[in-house]
Amino acid sequence: MSYGLSYEVKQILDSQPRLIMVENDIEWIIQGVYKYSLDYDGHIAQGERNIKLIVQKNFPNSIPKFYVSDYPEHIEHIYQDGNVCLATIGEMIYFLNENPSLIAFIKKFVNAFIYTLDWFEKYNTYPFGDRKHGYKGLLDYYLNDLKLTKDQYKKMVIMIYEDKYRGHIPCLCGSGKKLRDCHGKYMLPIIKNASYKNEFITEAYMILTKDGKNVSRKSSE
Ligand SMILES: [Zn+2]
Repeated sequence: MSYGLSYEVKQILDSQPRLIMVENDIEWIIQGVYKYSLDYDGHIAQGERNIKLIVQKNFPNSIPKFYVSDYPEHIEHIYQDGNVCLATIGEMIYFLNENPSLIAFIKKFVNAFIYTLDWFEKYNTYPFGDRKHGYKGLLDYYLNDLKLTKDQYKKMVIMIYEDKYRGHIPCLCGSGKKLRDCHGKYMLPIIKNASYKNEFITEAYMILTKDGKNVSRKSSE
């Protein structure tokens, strides 16, 4: 809590009077009714949702878990227990490394997901483009946003898994730059943190072994 997590939690609870917080040794559990009014490009979504956000006390060195109840039948990105896939592990780690704030995390990932939920209920489509779902969608993030081929993504995973990162070697993307001046900026935050690394490798394992299979609430039934 060194960076002021408890202060941020208090701010969240003050602005959301129907959320309550339960605390144990390792985590804060924030749950209840979350009131929202969100504006993306002039489209407004507002309402209330029953949510649960589990934030480990070593945040931002671990990624919060987010749950919603009462979600539409066919929506992707929600697992059977209501656990929401907010974004790829790599994207969330990169964001937290730049913005180590719970409030920023909520604004970026939780609110965007709630907006998606709202939109899906109204239009039965997704608001932020038609990125593929399931593990194929997660792989697409690494391929599109990080501009990697699938083989280069695999190389990155292996390099992280085997602790083979060296800043001065040529980047795995073939840019000719040193790793530290190129894709190293995505890899270093993962390598430096055991919890991040564990989540990244677990996700990579799922992406690389279940690639192309749609993992949604429906298909896990
Ligand atoms: Zn590179």
